[in-house]
Amino acid sequence: MFADEFDKYSWEETGERIQSVSLPEVERALFKEEQRDLADFLALISPAAAPYLEEMAQRSSKITRKRFGKTIQMYAPLYLSNECLNICTYCGFSMENKVRRKTLSREELMIEVSTLKEMGYDHVLLVTGEDQVKAGVEYIRRAVEWVRPFFSHISIEVQPLSEAEYTSFLPFGLNSVLVYQETYHEQKYRDYHPRGKKSNFRYRLATPDRVGTAGMHKIGLGVLLGLEDWRIDSFFCALHLSYLEKTYWKTKYSISFPRIRPHRGEDKFRPGLITDRELVQLICAWRIFNEEVELSVSTRESEKFRDHIIHLGATTFSAGSKTNPGGYAVEPESLEQFEICDEREPHEIAAMIRRNGYEPLWKDWDRTLQL
Ligand code: SF4
Repeated sequence: MFADEFDKYSWEETGERIQSVSLPEVERALFKEEQRDLADFLALISPAAAPYLEEMAQRSSKITRKRFGKTIQMYAPLYLSNECLNICTYCGFSMENKVRRKTLSREELMIEVSTLKEMGYDHVLLVTGEDQVKAGVEYIRRAVEWVRPFFSHISIEVQPLSEAEYTSFLPFGLNSVLVYQETYHEQKYRDYHPRGKKSNFRYRLATPDRVGTAGMHKIGLGVLLGLEDWRIDSFFCALHLSYLEKTYWKTKYSISFPRIRPHRGEDKFRPGLITDRELVQLICAWRIFNEEVELSVSTRESEKFRDHIIHLGATTFSAGSKTNPGGYAVEPESLEQFEICDEREPHEIAAMIRRNGYEPLWKDWDRTLQL
């Protein structure tokens, strides 16, 4: 289990190590020809690597083109429910927020699906809050079954489940599970999650193990940038990925970079502890460290940022996203989980991708290709 690996490291010592990286260590990590290791990733995300951003960007761009060509995969999140029994201090769906709750019926879901299909989507990410009754496993499984005929790739981002529950989704055509640790700082994690099932740090930490054991095609990892020191959190995320790749070697992986966005229930919006420039450094570091992993950049980021990151290592984009259940057609005015930043329609994003010499991929995978 990943916890065994995780317990070998201390948050504080990792932070000190990152802060004390030397320039020769950065150069060695950046210019070596053989496969990079975790020490290299640590060097590349350090403050010492900041002056090397141009070289990092060039290398990241080259590696990405070699592995993925000039393509960007397109996907859309589809929020099924904003019911949630947890308190997360950074989320508009948090139980303590007095907002109208909604879970899509089958009819409503089909209306949302047809809107997404008209936009051109073939990859959908089904999202719920964590309510084991109103949006429990049975409901999510049925939703996967309902949307299956319309999409070639289905992902979920829902409450952490047991291994048996993940396995039970496979016959219904589920391809990927996204589960972000939010932060790997075990003590601070409790402050951000004071109530609900999500407050169990260790259960969440072991979730990718359960997904991997179930034999899922792909697992998505990430940390919520803006909670704790992004460098230390990203190091632990890289440690997690390295462990998973060795343990569940048939599974594919993706990394996301969600930055905290404004939302209901938070009176002071934190601009986040990571700047645009640092986020570019982080994305390039991930690519140089791992040539295979998909790197996903969502509509949380600005138009300008997304237009540039196309060239620097990103492989996956959402576009036209709605973060409220029924947001595409059924009930556009309901409360969003958080505000999106890049509000361009999918066809505008696709045109922008083409203008940059890349090809938007609406479908690049089929279930029949699964091993
Ligand atoms: S982050 Fe997820 S679990 Fe936490 S309050 Fe929001 S929807 Fe609920």
